[in-house]
Amino acid sequence: MDINIKDTKRKYHFDFQISNDNFQLDEGFSGRIKDTLSVHGKIEKLVENKLLLKFSLEGTIIYPCSRCLEDVPEEINYHFREEIEQNNDGVVPLNEYINDCLYINEPYKVLCREDCLGLCPICGTNLNYNSCNCHEEEDEIDPRLEKLRNLI
Ligand SMILES: [Zn+2]
Ligand SMILES: [Zn+2]
Repeated sequence: MDINIKDTKRKYHFDFQISNDNFQLDEGFSGRIKDTLSVHGKIEKLVENKLLLKFSLEGTIIYPCSRCLEDVPEEINYHFREEIEQNNDGVVPLNEYINDCLYINEPYKVLCREDCLGLCPICGTNLNYNSCNCHEEEDEIDPRLEKLRNLI
């Protein structure tokens, strides 16, 4: 969504919804939008070619759990505030700033639950639901037994 503020005297208010259908998220962003996000804010003309861009993003983002990759819905209310240069054509590429805002606020770590067991690094089984035999064979031999076994 581009906003042309050429004919705006002082302030331009905007209020709209974005969804996965009408908005292209940055590829580096791990989340996706659940239903819609509300974008609400304003562009204010400051001195010369300076603009003040302020907005909030509100709704639900689905992030992958950092351990098991399951969907984790997070209610968000992100805020963005920055002084920007006005382009010669008066167009403010709001999408880019929305993506910046999402990217800056992307949580470092998301867990489906505090004690998520994650995926087995060997076979990929989700250990929250199933167990696998990958570890038992290699790691869990008692070293004392190992010595005994070498003697046999
Ligand atoms: Zn998890
Ligand atoms: Zn496994």
